[in-house]
Amino acid sequence: MHEFSIALSIIDIVDQYAEKAGASVVNEIEIEVGELSGVVLDAMEFAMESAIKGTIADKAVIVLHFLQGRGQCLDCKMEFDLQNLFDPCPFCGSFNPEVKQGKELRVKAINVD
Ligand SMILES: [Zn+2]
Repeated sequence: MHEFSIALSIIDIVDQYAEKAGASVVNEIEIEVGELSGVVLDAMEFAMESAIKGTIADKAVIVLHFLQGRGQCLDCKMEFDLQNLFDPCPFCGSFNPEVKQGKELRVKAINVD
């Protein structure tokens, strides 16, 4: 499961952050998940809930922010919602979108004590 290995690397990041901050507990982990990142939101949430067990983030609240895909057509310069990377431009029909938003998969914030 793709999401689980991502969750494990997020826990690595959280671990390092908590250690540097001298924290004893992680309260909250905020993660941004783009629509075009290839990660399924529900699966990601489930993977995170499993991955934090027995770690310093055991009791942490997992907050996932979903970012909708947005593209800009490189031919007609119009911006539009992009559900997948191969969608054509709805204005001129060309297959030349530049992704403006939606590929994100990152830790946005870690709240520790
Ligand atoms: Zn276009």
